[in-house]
Amino acid sequence: MRRIRAAVAAALAVVTVSCGTAEPVAQPSTATTTTTTVTTTTPPTAVPGPGGVTVPVFQHPYRFGSAQAKVPAAPDGLLPVVRRIETDKPYVFITIDDGAVRHPAALELMRSSNVRPSLFLNTKHVQDGPPFFKALQDQAHAKVHAHTATHPNLQGKGYEFQKQEICGNADYLEGQLGVRPTLFRPPFGNYDGTTRRAATDCGFSALVMWTAAVNDGVVQFQAGGKLNAGDIVLMHFRQSFVEDFVAFLNRCEQDGLTPVPLEDFLSTTAP
Ligand SMILES: [Zn+2]
Repeated sequence: MRRIRAAVAAALAVVTVSCGTAEPVAQPSTATTTTTTVTTTTPPTAVPGPGGVTVPVFQHPYRFGSAQAKVPAAPDGLLPVVRRIETDKPYVFITIDDGAVRHPAALELMRSSNVRPSLFLNTKHVQDGPPFFKALQDQAHAKVHAHTATHPNLQGKGYEFQKQEICGNADYLEGQLGVRPTLFRPPFGNYDGTTRRAATDCGFSALVMWTAAVNDGVVQFQAGGKLNAGDIVLMHFRQSFVEDFVAFLNRCEQDGLTPVPLEDFLSTTAP
């Protein structure tokens, strides 16, 4: 599955991405010929992106949307706290938080790279423009998850307050987008035992943290100088969306990793 970057040929324009992520693209008409030429096309490894950037393209190493691993059980019966995914495969996971800036290039970047991020969104941001996030969900196969209604620091807050922030956010997202979120991420990564109780009671299957982040177009690691298999990467919906997302893609390519959907490895059903 490792790819080498290659020059983008004009022929890429008619390549249809496999795995059902894109609509079939009509082949150019050759009305004057009567013979059929069958050409084998190699999937693109990179395509031109917004603002002239080159966007690495990742082929799906398995059928996305199919369970690859079950969500781990926490010893205390509450929802587990997941910081990274235990996997022997060269996979990483991209998560995008908040929703403050609805960058017009986000949909195209997700679609053209063939990557399906997990979005942890606040009610206060989604309500400024639900169709933007619905398009990411419906057209780029991004999965939307909960991140509280108003993005407070939950640590030390009472149960009712936390439950309202968490369940209320899930209810809102389900109402707007038609899908109930299954994963929860606390704002600032701050949580306590009450947070886990409330999130469990709201029906979430995991509390998701992260092991690397992208800021200002730079991938930052919590340990070591590269991304590792199983890393969960955090970025945000910011003005720097293109720089951040492309930095993540380039880093994956450099480190020999393929981004795959987090939900497939935190499945409530067995593979
Ligand atoms: Zn946040």
